[in-house]
Amino acid sequence: MEMKAAERRAKILDALEEHYPDAKCALIHSNPFELLVATILSAQCTDERVNLVTARLFQKYKTPQDFARLTPKELEEEIKELGLFRNKAKNIVAMSQKLLLEYGGDVPKDRESLESLPGVGRKTANVVLSNAFDIPAIAVDTHVFRVANRLGLVSRAPNPLAVERQLMKNIPKDRWSQAHHWLIHHGRQVCEARKPKCDVCPLLPYCPEGKRRTMEATN
Ligand code: SF4
Repeated sequence: MEMKAAERRAKILDALEEHYPDAKCALIHSNPFELLVATILSAQCTDERVNLVTARLFQKYKTPQDFARLTPKELEEEIKELGLFRNKAKNIVAMSQKLLLEYGGDVPKDRESLESLPGVGRKTANVVLSNAFDIPAIAVDTHVFRVANRLGLVSRAPNPLAVERQLMKNIPKDRWSQAHHWLIHHGRQVCEARKPKCDVCPLLPYCPEGKRRTMEATN
């Protein structure tokens, strides 16, 4: 039984890899600090929108020093087209100040330190660890949560942390970071929240939710 489940998961991962060979972080950044700022900005916003804002923002402000000197009000003006901009401005200024005070202006490479920074939760820490430092991690956003549950890569995981833990158990460590990108791409392009395109999904042969939906549609 377990052998079968492991085989099915391996087939899913292979198919995802085949379909999204170039999947990578969609937030444009040129160093760990920019990625950290962009990830904080991305809460409840599309990556495209964040990229438009950071293209302008990072021209003017580049380093933790630059951001630490701003007042939250000044930063709000720069990012106000993004949702939750007040909170994000406050957190980014405070995060930059803490980086300077406690980490010599460098983004730390461990989860505990990252999560101690204002505005940085587990998901943001995972994005930074995996994309900036190549440390295997699986950030669970809304797409990863939905698609992993539908595909049965996790079993009835009720919250993001449970999804992350089960994915880490069920996926080989050297595929964690890529699996995060594959699931996001698949969630955006095919396995959409309201109307998953099961009829054209390459994962349908391995997907319990897809099979259930297509059965219902033909009955
Ligand atoms: Fe999503 Fe349907 Fe594909 Fe399953 S078969 S992954 S539910 S689109």
